[in-house]
Amino acid sequence: MSAPDASSTTPIPPAPLGLQLKFSVGAIAAFTPTGDINARITHQTSAMEGMQTHQRVQRSRGPGYQKEKTVRTRRAIEQHELSISGRADGYHPAEQEQLAWVEEIKTTRMPIERLPDSVQQQHLNQLVLYGHLICEAEGLCEIELRLNYVNPDSAVETVITSVQSAEALAEQFEALLGPVVAWFRTRADWIQRRNTALQDLSFPFDDFRPGQRQIAEAAYRSSLQDGQLLLQAPTGLGKSMASLFPTLKSLPRTQVEKIFYLSAKTAGQASAEDALAQIHAQQLPIRSLTITAKRKACFNPEQPCDPNYCDYAKGYFDRLPQALEIIRDQPGHWDKTRLETLAQVHQVCPFELSLDAAREVDVIVCDYNYLFSPSTRLKRFFEERRGRYSVLLDELHNLVDRGQDMFSAEVQKLQFQAAKKESRAAYPTCVKVLNQVNRAFLALNKSLGSNASEIEVAAEALKPLCSRLQQFLTHLETLEAPQGLPAELTQCLFDAHRFLQVFDKLNDDYATFVLDSQNNLTVRLACVHPGQQLQEGYALADTLIGFSATLSPKAYYGDLLGFKTRAQWLKVPSPFAAEKQLTLIATHIPVSFQHRSKAVPNLLTLMKTLIAGKRGNYLVFFPSYAFLDDVRTAFEAAYPDKALHCQTRDMSDDAVKAFTDGFTEDSERLGFAVMGGRFAEGIDLKGQRLSGAMIISLGLAPKTLAQDALLRRMQSKRDSQPAAGAEVEPRPTQTNV
Ligand code: SF4
Repeated sequence: MSAPDASSTTPIPPAPLGLQLKFSVGAIAAFTPTGDINARITHQTSAMEGMQTHQRVQRSRGPGYQKEKTVRTRRAIEQHELSISGRADGYHPAEQEQLAWVEEIKTTRMPIERLPDSVQQQHLNQLVLYGHLICEAEGLCEIELRLNYVNPDSAVETVITSVQSAEALAEQFEALLGPVVAWFRTRADWIQRRNTALQDLSFPFDDFRPGQRQIAEAAYRSSLQDGQLLLQAPTGLGKSMASLFPTLKSLPRTQVEKIFYLSAKTAGQASAEDALAQIHAQQLPIRSLTITAKRKACFNPEQPCDPNYCDYAKGYFDRLPQALEIIRDQPGHWDKTRLETLAQVHQVCPFELSLDAAREVDVIVCDYNYLFSPSTRLKRFFEERRGRYSVLLDELHNLVDRGQDMFSAEVQKLQFQAAKKESRAAYPTCVKVLNQVNRAFLALNKSLGSNASEIEVAAEALKPLCSRLQQFLTHLETLEAPQGLPAELTQCLFDAHRFLQVFDKLNDDYATFVLDSQNNLTVRLACVHPGQQLQEGYALADTLIGFSATLSPKAYYGDLLGFKTRAQWLKVPSPFAAEKQLTLIATHIPVSFQHRSKAVPNLLTLMKTLIAGKRGNYLVFFPSYAFLDDVRTAFEAAYPDKALHCQTRDMSDDAVKAFTDGFTEDSERLGFAVMGGRFAEGIDLKGQRLSGAMIISLGLAPKTLAQDALLRRMQSKRDSQPAAGAEVEPRPTQTNV
């Protein structure tokens, strides 16, 4: 099958020539790391603190000083182009007896002698690169390099200087650039080979399903135009393949280097992997890989990523090249299991391997976080290095909740109390600062004078707490902890750091809440409108295709997801015959908490009737695990011979797979699951694998304070249609089955 039809009246821009990659100066400086992984935090300064310190130092310089001096250069490599750019923190041209000088400012509270050599070497490399590019641009014969470590509290500057000739810098520049150019050539050759082969890629099924061709053609055309396409199409249509196939087919014409297939859930990743398996069956030179979350991939979950604790971190960078060689040599998909096996063979961290291997592949399957979350974004692709990227967003409607989550932050009093308890013996000095944090929580609670379990507060009221959290971070940075910080303290460190980062940039997309429950106080900076921050992610994609079965009302999703006029919307009608679906609504069984015990026998009768209607597999969804357990107990007592398969809390990915794999074309299974859980969405039980589902619903949830805040924000901005507001209005509570 050929590429989807791209005919249309809109002109398609010509394909760019060759591979184009942009590297930051920092990425070149750190291109070939050696030795160990050491992710232990060495800087607990917030982004805002770093920026303020930079600005303070820059302001203190005299006239003639040029802050944020831009440098850039390009290197043509055959028909390809490698660009390098960056901004040196400061440059001062030569005057009188003083040589021209360039400085790089690094904010840290850590004593310089404790900075790892590899980190300091990267900083020096950066200065060398800046020095060379400035000498070249300004025609200088020599320049002074100043590496300036600044303590944000004391403002003390520790400066490491050296004077270098232009020739010496040019030589070092070439030495640092050499490995990058060698890698670039290999990558460009691979992409050429891949793109040639993709012309032979055919649609992996006999034909498109109804509606699938329409999606594929729109996706292909949008890719050629560097467009944004938002697709609404029913579940079961094959949206993953209908988006992935045309995007791959477009690569030879768009010179896109990589496709990122992003999803919110493991189930979404599984459908991407299924689609990729069909593509790889054609044996074309395409490499793809799944990035699995660190907590799931880690071989040593109880240990820090520190060479003293984890053998997979020790010498990681020395063994990495051999593992990458295997990935380059063996096309196909590298999923979690395959990567784990390779990581074991080479004794390298499986998570870091997946990140480093991602550089070599053409399709990356991963979570939304890796593009949108400020703390998890793959800086190696979206900041330090840039190619042309296509982004596919699976189950796009989930990005509203996930965006709200990603951009929010919270701290909890109980977490700090646990850290205090844990610190008493080994870190007694921490107890004092943790007490101060605790007192700030209590003072905040007292100042609110409310017994409500959740209350919205002004950001101003949180400042005393923020100042205590900052003191806590400052204390940790100077703390000697050769054995590593204990778990609770580490969690507080991350929470406080994130909280202060978000606090620094609060705006009217946020609402601030204090939640008081069971002796715990939670202070939450809730991002209620994620659209603006999501746009930062969209801007990193050259082409973007988002798809979902649920993107209505359009005004609501368009606004909350932050899509502007550039985005094209396509709604594909359901190809499934309406007469093949039967919806039964039973309103005669009240299922609210006080009626639950009486409801159980009636629900069992209803289930029995449903299952008797047609042979096959059925899923029953409950509003909570507690309700599920009640009905399960009654079911097992009433039907001891009938096997029941139930979702449980904290099911592993393998257990989820085993659960769904049990639903076959020939089986007669009954499964119990909870709404909103892992089986509620993205589970594809094709053909006869599911005959029916029963949903036991307590009704729609009442409006929350966060929804109130969102509604206020929408009204004040007047940036939404009435339909959008209606989505978050208080909703009637109904009780039905
Ligand atoms: S295996 Fe786990 S602990 Fe070790 S480096 Fe990797 S993520 Fe860190």
